[in-house]
Amino acid sequence: MRGLPLDSNARPSWALSRILRLFPVVLLLAAGFLLTSRSEFFAERVSSRDFFKLPVTCPAQSPAISPLLPFAPVDADYPSTAAVRLSGAIRVRTETFDASSSNGSDPSYDKFGDFEGYLRKTYPTMFHFFLQVRGAVDTINSFKSLKLEHIASHGLLFTWQGSDASLSPIILMAHQDTVPVPENTVERWTHPPFEGHFDENGWIWGRGGGDCKNLLIGELSAVDELLRIGFKPQRTVLLSFGFDEEGGRVRSASHLSAHVESIYGKDSVLFIIDEGEGIKEDYFGRTFITPALGEKGSANIEVTVAVPGGHSSVPPVHTGIGILSELVTTIENHPFYPKLSTKNPFSAYAQCLAEHSDIDPALKKALSHERTWDKAAAMMAAKNAGDGARLMTTQAVDIIHGGVKVNALPEQATAIVNHRISVDSSVKEIQQRYLELLNPVAHRFNLTVVDFDSDVPETATRYLKLSTPYGSEASPVSPYSGSAWDIFSGTARHLWGEDAIIAPLLMNGGTDTRAFQNLSRAIYRFEPLRSTDKYDIHTVNERIHIDGHLNTIRWVFALIQNADAFRE
Ligand SMILES: [Zn+2]
Repeated sequence: MRGLPLDSNARPSWALSRILRLFPVVLLLAAGFLLTSRSEFFAERVSSRDFFKLPVTCPAQSPAISPLLPFAPVDADYPSTAAVRLSGAIRVRTETFDASSSNGSDPSYDKFGDFEGYLRKTYPTMFHFFLQVRGAVDTINSFKSLKLEHIASHGLLFTWQGSDASLSPIILMAHQDTVPVPENTVERWTHPPFEGHFDENGWIWGRGGGDCKNLLIGELSAVDELLRIGFKPQRTVLLSFGFDEEGGRVRSASHLSAHVESIYGKDSVLFIIDEGEGIKEDYFGRTFITPALGEKGSANIEVTVAVPGGHSSVPPVHTGIGILSELVTTIENHPFYPKLSTKNPFSAYAQCLAEHSDIDPALKKALSHERTWDKAAAMMAAKNAGDGARLMTTQAVDIIHGGVKVNALPEQATAIVNHRISVDSSVKEIQQRYLELLNPVAHRFNLTVVDFDSDVPETATRYLKLSTPYGSEASPVSPYSGSAWDIFSGTARHLWGEDAIIAPLLMNGGTDTRAFQNLSRAIYRFEPLRSTDKYDIHTVNERIHIDGHLNTIRWVFALIQNADAFRE
């Protein structure tokens, strides 16, 4: 009896007593669980802290900035007008040759006079005074459009004077010249290289369309459209167009830069835009806007072996050419290795990929810990040769000379090695490396090493001479934070949407901005072109799509306005 009511009443207390009896066990289990989850929790914290502690991260993405005035040309067939302007620019041949004169007024450069003539005809409002209906002050400040100065004869510097001289100017760059079209390749072009053919699929064909007339004409067309709608800059806009970027000897960019510096001073420019990297659309599931914030350096190292000559009927085991061959083999057997470093903007780009795209999870993991960065760099270099070159100093044995006659032992043999120097190395470091690598070989062949800074002693008969006929350091790396970066990023995200990621990159090639480093820390080498917008730059069938060209115009149109609205 007791049992029943008691049972029904006692059940809770039975349960309670069971729980109380089991309490130590429950406590132990709970403690165990807590400890496990805490350790997991800590493990999580450690890894995210590691990630957080990476010395380089993807920059915070700036919000989109809308320009005040929308891009809305009245010309109903603006794309055709834009294409005609660009194809006309291609029709004026402006090739730069290696053997060109170092004097800008040499008649061989007269073609750039023709090119300027073409620009004057195409953009009449830029080169003339024009009248508006407003007051006299406006007459002085705004009635003229752009001032044009000639620097080193054919370098063109346009000044679109802003109304507020206290605002630092911006510079839009491009180059007028192109690489040549070798005569024996003309036949291979689908459309003649200087016809500027605009086909029914939207392609504009011809030398210079992609490099660099798209940008030059794009910048002028954007300014032209801003002039048409009555935009008056408060911040001065400079357009700087050199004419021998492709290896000429006038070095017009240096003259242009020196002239700008003489007017505005060092570090006086808010930012500089020039040709460079572009847009990676749908790249591992994301769109990346990748301005190049730096350029690699370049050095040519000359390796010369000198030994006594003689008749080749009584030769030594190794002739001068044989010794040089071994030196070359030694150099090639010691390549540089890809490396992610804090100095290289590519490291930030890699972090942007890890953070915002669906790259290989193994690569993502390797990128998330600094201790596995070497592995990540090797993975990236193996997948993409261009990325590999961005991650290291490269070397290419490009020229070799030696021997003059089949029955005479060569007294001298020379090799020239071209290096593209990583942003965290230097010409000096490469020279040092040569000495370390080649000294033992020289010693084995009983050659005196004459280093980079020394002259060959008159008495020397067997020697290895090292020299640097050309050496140029990597450029400084522009910052990927701060106001100039925000204007750049905000404008890009206005045009390509806030889903697009702005990721800093490094350029393997070089640009004229090399001569402009005194003027601004913020140099962005970028054209808003996707890989599918241009093909075969510098070779047969160079072409650019009208969509890419229109994007270039829209981009400059928005950028000028956003820079204008910004206040330091
Ligand atoms: Zn170029």
